[in-house]
Amino acid sequence: MNSIVEITKKYLSLTDIQSEKLSFICERLVEMNGQLNLTALKTDEEIALLHIFDSLTLLQTGLFNGKSVIDIGCGGGFPSLPLAVCSNECSITANDSTAKKLRFVEETARDAGITNLKTLLGRAEEIARTERRETFDIAVARGVARLDVLCELCIPMVKKGGFFIAMKGSKGKEELNQAENAIKVLGGKTIDIVEVEIPLFDRMHTLIIIEKQRNTAGEYPRMYSKIIKQPL
Ligand code: SAH
Repeated sequence: MNSIVEITKKYLSLTDIQSEKLSFICERLVEMNGQLNLTALKTDEEIALLHIFDSLTLLQTGLFNGKSVIDIGCGGGFPSLPLAVCSNECSITANDSTAKKLRFVEETARDAGITNLKTLLGRAEEIARTERRETFDIAVARGVARLDVLCELCIPMVKKGGFFIAMKGSKGKEELNQAENAIKVLGGKTIDIVEVEIPLFDRMHTLIIIEKQRNTAGEYPRMYSKIIKQPL
């Protein structure tokens, strides 16, 4: 696993403690993948750049200092685990609707000595109708749903004045065109589109930064079947 972190370190500066924790996370991911189906990525380069480096591109926005962050649909812990390691003044909530994946994230964080990450089991659209609604400074999500659908899962979770950052691939801008109405209806406004280069793979990924400018109307989020059938 050292090699995964060595590859990452060519592109990012990491302290020894961060390297050690990230190395532990990769070790667990590879060890448990067969059982839990956590990732389709296999090579050291893929895990280093498409999981760790990609997760940490969020920090390029400069928005994360000391913030409470929810990672919606975190799966095997991306971006939440690398984010927790490299922004230790943030408090990270890793959310997923699948208990076994979330257990993996919880145990990996605990055993890596990560103390600023908690897990939250459940469907995002249901959690957003509890007391957790509009309580986070930032929501992030990667690989969960198309942007118009994703906005309804994520924006209700964010406090007024906070941000939802969608981590998208090269088609981010196209998805954004389709999601403009959802963003507006849910109280958001797109304030920046940051293109980030993923080294070695020659790929551009997109961070879509949406500011929550107004509280979300009580009728949102709707039930998942409705969100999917009639995206805003
Ligand atoms: N973010 C991770 C995982 C992406 S796979 C990564 O980029 O590697 C999508 C994950 O979203 C799955 O683990 C799935 O269980 C979760 N998910 C899908 N819909 C969800 C919902 N409505 N609420 C919470 N989690 C959801």
